[in-house]
Amino acid sequence: MHSSRAIIIGSGIAGMAAAIRLAAAGYEVTVYEKNSYAGGKLSLIEKDGFRFDAGPSLFTEPQELEALFEVAGERISDYITYKQVESTCKYFFANGKIFTAWSEREKLLQAFTEQLEEPAANVAAYLDNAAQLYSSIGNIFLNNSLRTGSLLTAPPFYKALSILRPYLLFDTLNEFHEKSFTTGEAIQIFNRFATYNGSNPYAAPAMLCMVPHVELNEGIFYPEGGMISIAGALYQLAVKKGVRFHFNTPVERIICAGDHIEGVVVNGENIFSEIVVSNADIYFTYRDLLCDERTAAKIAKQEKSSSAIVFCWGMKKAFPSLQLHNIFFSGDYKAEFQHLFTAKALFKDPTVYINISSKMESGHAPAGMENWFVMVNVPSGVTAKDRDQLIAFARQQVLKKLRGTLKEDVEPYIVTETVIDPAWLENNTGAYGGAIYGISSNTKRSAFLRHPNFSPAVNGLYFCGGTVHPGGGMPLCLKGAKIVAEMAGKFNSRYALASGRH
Ligand SMILES: Cc1cc2nc3c(=O)[nH]c(=O)nc-3n(C[C@H](O)[C@H](O)[C@H](O)COP(=O)(O)OP(=O)(O)OC[C@H]3O[C@@H](n4cnc5c(N)ncnc54)[C@H](O)[C@@H]3O)c2cc1C
Repeated sequence: MHSSRAIIIGSGIAGMAAAIRLAAAGYEVTVYEKNSYAGGKLSLIEKDGFRFDAGPSLFTEPQELEALFEVAGERISDYITYKQVESTCKYFFANGKIFTAWSEREKLLQAFTEQLEEPAANVAAYLDNAAQLYSSIGNIFLNNSLRTGSLLTAPPFYKALSILRPYLLFDTLNEFHEKSFTTGEAIQIFNRFATYNGSNPYAAPAMLCMVPHVELNEGIFYPEGGMISIAGALYQLAVKKGVRFHFNTPVERIICAGDHIEGVVVNGENIFSEIVVSNADIYFTYRDLLCDERTAAKIAKQEKSSSAIVFCWGMKKAFPSLQLHNIFFSGDYKAEFQHLFTAKALFKDPTVYINISSKMESGHAPAGMENWFVMVNVPSGVTAKDRDQLIAFARQQVLKKLRGTLKEDVEPYIVTETVIDPAWLENNTGAYGGAIYGISSNTKRSAFLRHPNFSPAVNGLYFCGGTVHPGGGMPLCLKGAKIVAEMAGKFNSRYALASGRH
């Protein structure tokens, strides 16, 4: 009996996680990756003695990563180490207030009261509610394919439904926060979590109030060596489990025979496989790999998540007032989101996020210097024509914002600069229009409109990654890979029985 073959298109975090799970289940797994490296959006830029994680900078839910190593029968500490970070973020408000969000709960609640005058009881009640929702509704919703009959009849599904309240679907996240907190600062801090999947807190349903649970109840972590170590660890683990990688090798087509998968076309050659998993953006999977223009057009019509402009700045001095994660809030958050999602433009007073990994590991920048990853959210789908103008405007506004808050012009300290923008994200990571998380979660139906992890038309074809269920961000990508591996396992048992291969 030969083992079943699985082909993975793309080595993003979900692609590698699916590869590891399928290899651990006995599949012969091959990954085709069009880039020269593994990791997709999780990548590294090195310049002039500085190193920058070019994509994700916030590491949460390490248990999702641990589960992969467990499935593979390996000790995670042999591949990667990480530690909890004492403070999750430092917030600078337009009114001059500064707030440090501590990881330790009592310290966090006390800081809300002392620094922002937000009653600790409000924050505690909110976080407890978020924890309960996450462990019930979140657990069912994020760990299962939503479109399988077995889920709808499972007892945990009904238990989760019993916790569902109308406000979760019919209030916006901002409306819920206005009812939950008394201060504008607390509302703004919690509204920001909508951006963790590229959405708008003034439109997205209150259901997204589960998101802060992950950061504020479970904590944030820092992987030794920076975020790129996560990609490295997954790659090493996959190789250890026998997964074969082909870099600089784009898949050209997915081949189907009627309602069954046949394999893929690579370098003009047909390669057969019982299972194919696409980790590529779902829009391009349909448009280019399945040549299904109709479905691609339907996906293209759905509202996209936001994109980003990131300035990777090497700074020739250290800024003691900053920490690993920092937020400089817009003075008019509502207007900022109106610009992003309605006017499709960057607001003149954008919220600025700065990540400085050299605060954790001094080797990420030359002595006495810092590596700043400076990000602003921008609309996805910016045309090439508007690109230079958008970058120039963003740079100007970011510098103005930092000058106003830090009371110091930071521009003279920039010794090296690399810019990431929506077009860069599309070219380098295959994100359609540069949308970081595929479609937005701006309506109560959005979560159900996200493409499922399987093809409704082709048996043996699966999808994982930030543009399909359960969504983007590394923890959700890892959950999606698990759903895919479980579905593929069930499909393969049926297939083996039907074809006598058992
Ligand atoms: C600027 C930025 C900041 C972010 N911040 C965070 C954060 O702080 N925390 C967090 O958890 N998440 C964050 N994210 C989101 C997170 O990075 C993504 O959700 C996640 O990495 C996506 O992984 P994926 O599995 O969908 O694959 P992707 O990373 O999208 O990779 C897909 C891979 O498929 C390959 N591919 C595409 N087409 C083909 C083809 N035809 N043939 C072969 N290969 C192909 C691509 O080259 C790519 O390598 C951020 C993302 C960005 C861009």
